[in-house]
Amino acid sequence: MTIRTRFAPSPTGMLHVGGVRTALFNYLFAKHTGGEFLLRIEDTDKARSTQPAVQAILEGMDWLGLTPDAAPVYQSSREARHVEVAMQMLAAGRAYYCYASPDELKEMRETAQAEGRAPRYDGRWRDRDPSEAPAGVKPAIRLKAPREGETLVHDLVQGTVRVQNTELDDMIILRSDGTPTYLHAVVVDDHDMAISHVIRGDDHLTNTFRQVQIYNAMGWETPHFAHIPLIHGADGAKLSKRHGAVSVLEFREQGFLPEALCNYLLRLGWGHGDAEFLPREEQISLFTLEGVGRAASRMDYAKLTHLNGLWLRGANDARLTGDVLARLEAQGISADATAQARILTLMPGLKERAKTLVDLTASAAFLARSRPLPFEPKAEALLTPDARAMLARLAPALAATDFSVAAVDAALRSFAETEGLKLGQVAQPLRAALTGSTMSPGIDATLAALGREESLARLKEVAAF
Ligand code: GLU
Repeated sequence: MTIRTRFAPSPTGMLHVGGVRTALFNYLFAKHTGGEFLLRIEDTDKARSTQPAVQAILEGMDWLGLTPDAAPVYQSSREARHVEVAMQMLAAGRAYYCYASPDELKEMRETAQAEGRAPRYDGRWRDRDPSEAPAGVKPAIRLKAPREGETLVHDLVQGTVRVQNTELDDMIILRSDGTPTYLHAVVVDDHDMAISHVIRGDDHLTNTFRQVQIYNAMGWETPHFAHIPLIHGADGAKLSKRHGAVSVLEFREQGFLPEALCNYLLRLGWGHGDAEFLPREEQISLFTLEGVGRAASRMDYAKLTHLNGLWLRGANDARLTGDVLARLEAQGISADATAQARILTLMPGLKERAKTLVDLTASAAFLARSRPLPFEPKAEALLTPDARAMLARLAPALAATDFSVAAVDAALRSFAETEGLKLGQVAQPLRAALTGSTMSPGIDATLAALGREESLARLKEVAAF
């Protein structure tokens, strides 16, 4: 059997982290088994689906590197096929026309409510002859669901779950306006796309019973199901805006690397020993559905940020430089070739200290800024008259070097010794003068990256000659 999975988001809102984790699990399961991963945009709800939401899904998947193995399938384009299958079920006697009016359905609901039962269609058209159909009423098509026995789902995460068939009513598969219902469309699409494993959020578990009944009515083989627990906020409540970023593109905005987000979401509710840092190749080779826990997981932004720091440290310097340059540009700081080279040179030191691309960009900005530099208050405070006088004496000592890391380091040490100062007493005001802040990579590396001309020019602006 060819393993084939799909991620089937509805473009009715943003692509949130819960959806991303579902997509990731589908992707990893397919890749682990040498199968295929597909994307289906479930845009049948025309009133609520939007083009920007479709775009956000495609952009998010692309950013995360969760590339499907075929062009996305748009559910709305398959309506004729959904209708066709409903007609086949009708012809086979596995479905029937229902002419119940909105008033009758309302009455059924109200009676059920009054009796404390779940609202359920009473099957009044199930065995009635269509010749009794009221004139001018457009019928819906309902599934002739089994009335005895139980429907079973052997879920790969939840175990065997069952429902008594008396609990399920004859669901509508085609509305009276001729449009397919969502549950019906999903089954037809999964069948036609030859999906072998349906991996999705456990909020869909109850839908599965009804979907299994549709597979059975068509005589189609059911796929394997795996319903994975949802992600909650740290307080255990359903993840929402107030917990922080929820939309995947917001995480990008906030400076998270896609690798870190995927790594984090995998580790959330999927265990593999203590391994924390898992590159994609390892994720693929280790992933199994047996490792998925049954409890809802809690989103921990602090852990994600920590993991992001690890991924930043391991990331390629040229790539990070590209990210930083784009972010600087967006802030109106454009870096010329010299500034770009400075950022690349200092990147190994910069990325050691950053937790997100936002931090990284902020810490790199001084390399691209033109003079006069803006000074943070803490940096300003370091530039006392004494410090400015000290920097004026330091400038010629630095100017005498070739501005290599080793040479400026040696010059700084010997200068500090001559002045009777600790290295830090020289480095801190110097850092303030060069960067406008109190934090940067090692002062020797900072000087070397900034280069002779720019370093001396910045010193000149603050030093009291
Ligand atoms: N379209 C559904 C959703 O976005 C998923 C349906 C499914 O995976 O079967 O929640």
